[in-house]
Amino acid sequence: MRIALTGTPGTGKTSVARLLPYRVLDINALIKDEMLHLGSDPNRGCLVADVDALEKRINELAGAKPDEDVVLESHFSHQFAPVAIVLRTSPKVLRDRLAKRGYSEKKIKENLEAEALDVILVEAVEWCDQVHEIDTTQRSAEETADLVTKIIRGEAKLPPGKIDWTGDIDWIGEMDCDPG
Ligand code: ADP
Ligand code: MN
Repeated sequence: MRIALTGTPGTGKTSVARLLPYRVLDINALIKDEMLHLGSDPNRGCLVADVDALEKRINELAGAKPDEDVVLESHFSHQFAPVAIVLRTSPKVLRDRLAKRGYSEKKIKENLEAEALDVILVEAVEWCDQVHEIDTTQRSAEETADLVTKIIRGEAKLPPGKIDWTGDIDWIGEMDCDPG
């Protein structure tokens, strides 16, 4: 089965994926390495995925052995799997993680807003048959990876609805941003 490991940037997808006992397809690397894109978005400076070509390639790479569990890692991997595991992080903690990455204030604010408004979770619920969410705020990447593994084995279920960061929306809205 294919499982999407998704979530707002900085929630720990790559760190957790590295620790999983499963084959992982890094969707962003696939887009870059195999040029499965339509060029870069002039406003955002990031690549626009060629979704049809990407889906075809994922089918080739993940569909070879139908019984194998394959994890698709990316903040839009939930478009390509029946099951999504959404990593979540409290906006205050996420702010520090994204600042360490050198993101601009504007980009940090956009991502915090998306996290507080459950944007990825809502998309995953629209796209997938089964959705789980894990709060990584108080968990190490190892603990999160254990939980992901349990979910994939069918030993744990974490249906969405327990996480609520709407209380953070006000301070995020008041964040000062340099242009750019
Ligand atoms: P993503 O792939 O979702 O953008 P990354 O794994 O690349 O996230 O980045 C998460 C960053 O946060 C890493 O620098 C990681 O070391 C740090 N981090 C701190 N605490 C955690 C945690 N509990 N789980 C995952 N990452 C954490
Ligand atoms: Mn990543």
